Amino acid sequence: MSLSEQQAAALSAETVVVAAGRPPRERDEPVNPPLVLSSTYFGTGPLGDGDRGYGRYSNPTWDPFEEALGQLEGAALPGLLYASGLAAVSSALSLVPAGGVLVMPSHSYAGSLVMATELAEKGFLELRTVDIADTDAVLAQLAPAGGRPASMLWLESPTNPMLGVADIRALTAAAHAAGAVVVTDNTFSTPLVQQPLALGSDVVLHSVTKYLSGHSDVVLGALVTSDAGLRASLLHHRTIHGGIAGPFEAWLALRGLRTLALRVERSQASAAVLAERLRTHPRVGSIRFPGLPTDPGHERAKSQMKGFGSVLCIEMAPVGGLSGADAADRMIRALKLWLPATSLGGVESLIERRRRHTAEPASVPDNLVRMSVGIENVEDLWADLEQALATLGG
Ligand SMILES: *Cc1c(COP(=O)(O)O)cnc(C)c1O
Repeated sequence: MSLSEQQAAALSAETVVVAAGRPPRERDEPVNPPLVLSSTYFGTGPLGDGDRGYGRYSNPTWDPFEEALGQLEGAALPGLLYASGLAAVSSALSLVPAGGVLVMPSHSYAGSLVMATELAEKGFLELRTVDIADTDAVLAQLAPAGGRPASMLWLESPTNPMLGVADIRALTAAAHAAGAVVVTDNTFSTPLVQQPLALGSDVVLHSVTKYLSGHSDVVLGALVTSDAGLRASLLHHRTIHGGIAGPFEAWLALRGLRTLALRVERSQASAAVLAERLRTHPRVGSIRFPGLPTDPGHERAKSQMKGFGSVLCIEMAPVGGLSGADAADRMIRALKLWLPATSLGGVESLIERRRRHTAEPASVPDNLVRMSVGIENVEDLWADLEQALATLGG
């Protein structure tokens, strides 16, 4: 291990993303961890009594990323990599006991919500969905008078794609008082912008596919906790359910992580510029971005985040004979630089009308366009948006 926990704690996160997870400083060691492709490991004795055992239990290529992510989230233990963000969601939901109550934002990532809904339909748990920005409503579902208290509070903040902001400190305190475990999906913020463990969460979740890898070339997930018991349960679930990361993906994720601080800095700055310009554009009906002082989540975001992320959502105004949704589709088709594709958090700017996905809840407006701001020159991004919006006339 290249950085001890104490060393990492003394360094700024921009340094940790570069310095963490390096091989030992020994003569002729490589400066980058090697990619290890092996499904099994030699034991030290004739019966095989090594620590790694088999490729589903561990892989040396996972370790540096897991160590770096744990340090970045301020955890006492390394993180756990998974085959995808949803494999991590599945593992985290396994912490809900049979028949237990799960409280989840009604605007969680659609896949998380589908998984929880299906578990509830099969009778494995009771699901209570809430407007996560409405603290009183969440408190009422965590410990209803005369009702069963929650076993798990699921947080996602800001939410995907509605960008609702939860009061993480207040909600985790109330969840703990009710005896619930708190899982926070920190995909949108990255540990550089928001640290859910420090705000009280027990487990942090990432779709590593997004900002942490950052190049739209891998699908991975991760969980991080400082609780040894929870980590052991999650690791057991990963081993037995098999949602493990491929070594090459893990290697690429660490390579992507090295530039996380630069990417986050640039894309956040550009998102703030674009949000301000889009806010007053006549073709834009409304905008959601916690960085705007007029956004309902602004003050709360300021109190728990070191920035406001680089995803923003606009609702397109109807124009001429076009509905807002049609205007959105036409504008997206007219773009030349922004890529019309799902996902977010990559170096390239991506844009999509969310309701084109059938799994997206109907409460997401059909004219809502999600924009993931990348690291291109902000004036080039703006010029492309301006020309595409101009094709709508009006
Ligand atoms: C993408 C995403 C996920 C799911 O991750 P995958 O890597 O696609 O499985 C979970 N949560 C959020 C907030 C996401 O954006």
